[in-house]
Amino acid sequence: LKSPYAGGHLEVIVGPMFSGKSEELIRRVTRALIARQRVQVFKPALDDRYHESAVASHAGRTVSAVAVRDVADIRAQLSGEGALLQAQTDMPQVVGIDEVQFFGADLVPLALALADAGVRVILAGLDLDFRAEPFGCMPELLARAESVEKLTAICTTCGAPATRSQRLIGGLPARFDDPVVLVGAQESYEARCRLHHEVIH
Ligand code: ADP
Repeated sequence: LKSPYAGGHLEVIVGPMFSGKSEELIRRVTRALIARQRVQVFKPALDDRYHESAVASHAGRTVSAVAVRDVADIRAQLSGEGALLQAQTDMPQVVGIDEVQFFGADLVPLALALADAGVRVILAGLDLDFRAEPFGCMPELLARAESVEKLTAICTTCGAPATRSQRLIGGLPARFDDPVVLVGAQESYEARCRLHHEVIH
């Protein structure tokens, strides 16, 4: 598996929900594993401890991953921060992280330090939130990446390429200022194109 880059670098995979970001991350990671590279994959944990888990696509493919609370957990799992500088032999050659938008801004310096240390860093996540506003640290990651793949889903209203995630609460479009976490609400998400994406102001 020959990388087009001489050393470490940052690859970012973005798009709305259902655009195949996890699928693409799994595809790249699987190829690295076939090439017998040392790979570590991370994703945010729903509860507050880290554990063995898996990244799964909506279509059902999986690759094993470590579920972590935050960026500090990722650092701890990467066999100590010293590893970044000492180029230890057990350091991963490839680091994949899914659902990047759920991590804090401290993901940026970690991703850059890994890439600087020679690691191929593959990040997947939402570029836009349900309001179609840039999501968390994604703008900065996109600007700093060597490679960006922007995927589209299929608009559930018209079948055109979808670039946005429609949030529905009780079947109706969410309001711009609805809290990101709504306890007890019946909420769901659909892929939509620009024309059919709705946010109530
Ligand atoms: P993401 O990580 O971007 O949310 P996944 O890789 O988990 O995406 O899932 C992508 C898969 O979701 C597609 O291959 C397809 O099987 C399924 N899917 C369901 N709804 C849609 C949709 N509206 N547009 C495209 N794919 C969809």
